Amino acid sequence: MSDIVIIGAGVIGVATAHALTARGITDITILDRDSVGSGGTGKSAGIVRCHYGVTSVAALALASLEFFENAEAELGQDIGFEQVGYLVGVGPENVEPFRASLANQRSLGVDTREIGHDEVAAMWPTAYLDDFATFCFEPRGGYGDGYATAQALATSLKAKGVTIRQGAKVTEIVVDGDKVTGVRLADGEVVPAGLVVVAAGAWSVPLVSPLGITLPIQPIWVQEVLIDPAVDLGAPPVFSDLVSKQYVHLRGGEMLFGNSSGEGAMTPIDDPDVYPSRATNETVELVVEKAMHRFPGIEDPRLATTATGVIDTTPDNNPIVSATGYAGLFIAAGMSGHGFKIAPALGRLMADIMLDGDTTLPHVVASEFRLSRYDDGEPLVSPFVYHGATGIR
Ligand SMILES: Cc1cc2nc3c(=O)[nH]c(=O)nc-3n(C[C@H](O)[C@H](O)[C@H](O)COP(=O)(O)OP(=O)(O)OC[C@H]3O[C@@H](n4cnc5c(N)ncnc54)[C@H](O)[C@@H]3O)c2cc1C
Repeated sequence: MSDIVIIGAGVIGVATAHALTARGITDITILDRDSVGSGGTGKSAGIVRCHYGVTSVAALALASLEFFENAEAELGQDIGFEQVGYLVGVGPENVEPFRASLANQRSLGVDTREIGHDEVAAMWPTAYLDDFATFCFEPRGGYGDGYATAQALATSLKAKGVTIRQGAKVTEIVVDGDKVTGVRLADGEVVPAGLVVVAAGAWSVPLVSPLGITLPIQPIWVQEVLIDPAVDLGAPPVFSDLVSKQYVHLRGGEMLFGNSSGEGAMTPIDDPDVYPSRATNETVELVVEKAMHRFPGIEDPRLATTATGVIDTTPDNNPIVSATGYAGLFIAAGMSGHGFKIAPALGRLMADIMLDGDTTLPHVVASEFRLSRYDDGEPLVSPFVYHGATGIR
């Protein structure tokens, strides 16, 4: 019997195990129905930034940066983190909340500063910038590789004695009264455990619903478009464009565009296993139109390919990291499309809640992530509301 079973070997499951091992606990079994990083983690755009209005989330992103910066030395493997910096551009309607959010971020220790058009033009010489009012730049931001990060963590966990079982689908969480006692696998095997963490993204919902636990998590289909600029753009920062509502960064020389408004931005689906693997023609057209508006300096762009994935979104666009009404049963799910950048610290938050009921992570209020916040009417939302942007700011 393992003391702890973690369901899901995405970046959240392995980060939770990593944090537990840092506290000397290695009697852990991670179970995945498929393989390490096969869920949303392996499809992630991997953008890393601390630009959040919710203090606890900005603080999780900041604490996670230290992991990304030191992971190669600590884990002995390249996790694919490219620290090219992170740039945000806003229109006049958002200058006020933008500046207030920046001030809050700086008060937490985030290295971010407002910059002007000239500086941005030097970073992205191909971009049209006249419709932005102002920008900020985070030099410690960039993008990572979800799959490589999860694999590196898994390798390190195995070396510490953690068991990772792939192709092990959990079909039932086993309880005795109001206490968890283990999980049952698809072949009927019961894996006993004193503590169980459900870190299975959108698939967490049906795992806990037989226990009377309702997770307000909606699977959302997201589409990305990769454009070959046919020129070498160097290594510009990730660019969050809150005027055209899109983000872009380079991946292997191609420009990866995510669209955050209009056609195909966020499509709710019923089953997180059933969605098209290619972006729709309408989405491609919209992304290309936005890309051409923003980057007129790229003269001969070509559509390279498209990519899609599923995110597990909660009503307030923030994760659920929580105990439940069952002793020993915990939830770390509902990452709402931004779980990669906060995963290292979120794993620590989950471990702290499991072991201590609270966390000592600076500026992180553990109770803000509790499942009951929705019923309590206390959603976790930013006080600095950006007009026209998604809720993950
Ligand atoms: C297209 C896309 C772009 C994104 N871009 C960004 C970004 O730029 N920055 C950022 O921070 N985040 C981004 N995200 C979000 C981020 O990647 C996710 O929040 C994060 O990877 C989620 O990790 P997870 O471990 O919670 O879930 P997952 O990686 O989905 O892992 C869940 C695991 O549970 C397993 N599982 C499911 N059911 C069972 C079961 N019954 N038994 C056993 N195992 C089970 C699955 O096989 C899976 O491996 C993006 C996501 C997508 C899809």
